[in-house]
Amino acid sequence: MTKFNLNNLVRANVKAMKPYSSARDEYVSDGSEMVFLDANENPFENGVNRYPDPQQRSLKSIIAAQKGIDESHILLGNGSDEVLDLLFRAFCQPKQDNIITLPPTYGMYTVLSNLNEIEERKVVLQADFQPDVDAILKAVDAHSKLLFICSPNNPTGNLIAIKKVKQLLETFQGIVVIDEAYIDFADQSTWVNELSNYPNLIVTQTLSKAYGLAGIRLGVCFAAAEVIAVLNKIKPPYNVNELTQKAAMERLMDEKGVENEIKAILEERSGLIAALQNVDFVKTIYPTEANFVLAKVDDATKRYNELLAKGIVIRNRTTQALCENTLRFTVGTPEENKLLIAALKSL
Ligand SMILES: *Cc1c(COP(=O)(O)O)cnc(C)c1O
Repeated sequence: MTKFNLNNLVRANVKAMKPYSSARDEYVSDGSEMVFLDANENPFENGVNRYPDPQQRSLKSIIAAQKGIDESHILLGNGSDEVLDLLFRAFCQPKQDNIITLPPTYGMYTVLSNLNEIEERKVVLQADFQPDVDAILKAVDAHSKLLFICSPNNPTGNLIAIKKVKQLLETFQGIVVIDEAYIDFADQSTWVNELSNYPNLIVTQTLSKAYGLAGIRLGVCFAAAEVIAVLNKIKPPYNVNELTQKAAMERLMDEKGVENEIKAILEERSGLIAALQNVDFVKTIYPTEANFVLAKVDDATKRYNELLAKGIVIRNRTTQALCENTLRFTVGTPEENKLLIAALKSL
């Protein structure tokens, strides 16, 4: 691979622009009592009358300590969906650049490429849900800026093989984005540990799944400090609100609590898989490293509607590449899973 040069990938307008300088960026409190009359806030204290820290320093320091990396490698967003959108805006020139995706995969990559007028080049996974590296490299050209690898993948549930990811990191001339929304359920460590080896690697994670905080919207992006600096320049100044920062810190400090819930979900997942094996219209249950199970059935749309009539909502993935007649079941509470299994057996 020719030497990675971030400057060749950043959009010209992003390189040229100056970021918005917020009032809270100009002065960092050193803990001494100050009088803040700089941001036109209402001065009467109610817990959220002040603008939040635009750099989320306290929250980042907890994440940095837990992941064992420096804060300069972290950017936080209003959900990982905002982080993904920032990547498009930083690197992809509308109507000129393209991205590579590996269907079947997360639907937001397509939505964001449509929104940002970026061509999406889809290279369908192989039958074993692993990437076809040769086909990917054939689809790439000088305008291919981002390659999205979702691992564990949604909706298939499998991890993408380490060897394939390394091949892509070493040969793709753009940025490889590894979406690790489900990594906390997986039997493999995070690619965050490899950041120092690959300057073109971006890893995204979220508090929406294993951490149980989908409602607060917090996404995390890990990358080389120079990549994070570009994203910091274009992010909305107050993109992570005060309530979210507080709730996230509280949850992150409760490591035992999170760990216990993940354990419980994984146990429930085993039970759900065992039960699905005894449902006669279930044809294949795919191996999963996430908090959901993808299964092939006789007629996905029929079974989806039957469950819906019984008050159970699952995801019908039949229109996705390689996913004909598949259903995706999220692992619920023990009670919810019992209801699901009873409903499936009654069909
Ligand atoms: C659920 C999910 C996300 C989460 O996005 P947030 O905006 O952080 O809630 C990201 N990527 C994938 C693949 C997902 O399935």
